[in-house]
Amino acid sequence: MKAVRVHEYKKPPSLDDVPQPDLQDHHDVIVRIGGAGVCRTDLHVVDGWFENLMPVAAPFILGHENAGWVEAVGDAVTSVRVGDQVIVHPLSTCGVCSGCRHGEDMYCSTSAFPGVNTDGGYAEYLRTSQRSLVHLPEQLAPAAVAPYADAGITAYRAVRKAAAILRPGMTAAVIGVGGLGHIGIQLLGETTPAQIVAIDKAERGRDLARRVGAEVVVSPEDAPATIAELTGELGVDVVIDFVGEHDTPSLALEILRQGGTYFIVGYGATLNYDTTLLVLREITVVGNLVGNFDDLVGLMRLVERDRVRLETRTYTLDQAVQALDDLDNGRITGRGVLVPA
Ligand SMILES: [Zn+2]
Ligand SMILES: [Zn+2]
Repeated sequence: MKAVRVHEYKKPPSLDDVPQPDLQDHHDVIVRIGGAGVCRTDLHVVDGWFENLMPVAAPFILGHENAGWVEAVGDAVTSVRVGDQVIVHPLSTCGVCSGCRHGEDMYCSTSAFPGVNTDGGYAEYLRTSQRSLVHLPEQLAPAAVAPYADAGITAYRAVRKAAAILRPGMTAAVIGVGGLGHIGIQLLGETTPAQIVAIDKAERGRDLARRVGAEVVVSPEDAPATIAELTGELGVDVVIDFVGEHDTPSLALEILRQGGTYFIVGYGATLNYDTTLLVLREITVVGNLVGNFDDLVGLMRLVERDRVRLETRTYTLDQAVQALDDLDNGRITGRGVLVPA
C-alpha cells in the first residue's frame, strides 16, 4: 500500500510502498483509511520533538487523526464488523491499567500512539484495536470528519472543562483559530453561555472565527485593550490557548481576570510566571491532553446532530508534504485532510 513515512527527523516524509498492516492481536482491527487529518503535532513529530518522549524506530507512518471503514477484525472483536464506518480514537489502549480503569484513555501506560510512536494513518490502511473505534453514521463521510479524532476531541475536552466554570455574563477567549480553534469556538457556543472572544494573528483565522460564531474577533496586538474595554478592565474568565507557542502564554495571563482559568491546549512555549502574581491573582492553569474515548463519543453525537461543523481542505496522499508545508505556513483554513486515492 501507499504510505507517508518519516525516515529521518527534520527531513520531509516520503510516499513509500509498504506492506499492508495485518492482524497481530485478537482485538486488532484493520481500518481502510477514508481520511487522515493533518495536524501541527505531525510537524512536531517530523521535527523530532517526541524522539525521547515516545521513541519509535524509523521509518514510520505519520497520522493520528483517522477515520474510515473496518477492513478486517481479529477473532475476539465484537464491537465492530467488516464494512462499518468508524472514527479512530488517537490512542490504542490496553483497557486494564490504572489510567484505562480511570476512564482516561490518554493515561494508558502501555498504549500505542499511531503516527507518533507506531505506524499511523497517512496510508491506505491502519492497524488499531477495537477499543479505539467509534461508529459513524452513514451521513458522516470519514474524510469529512477525520480531524475530530484529535483536533475535535482535544477542543472538546478543554471546552468541557471550561463549561463547568462558565456562567451567563462570563467571557471566554480563544487564542488561535485554526483546526482546533474553530471547533472550540463552536463548542463554546453550543455548550456554554459565555461571550466568545477570538484572537488570531492572521486575517484568515479571524474570518473563520466570525463564520463560526465568535462575537468579538481581534488580533493579538489589539486583544488586551479590546478585552479591557469589553470587560470593564476585569479581563476574561477563561482563556483557551490552542497555540501555546511563542508568546501566547504571556498574552493569556495578561488578559485573564483575577480568579481566571488558563487552559493550555497547544504546546511548545515555556510558561514563565511570577508565583507571587499567580497567588495574588489566583490564576488556575490547566493542561489538556487530547481526550478520552467518552469525549470522542460526546463530540460525535454533537457532530451527528449538525451542531458542530468542520472546515476542511483535502489533499491526496502524495500531496502530504505540500499539506504539511501549507499548515506550517498558515495557508490552510480549518483543517487539511489526506484522502487515499
Ligand atoms: Zn492532531
Ligand atoms: Zn491502559
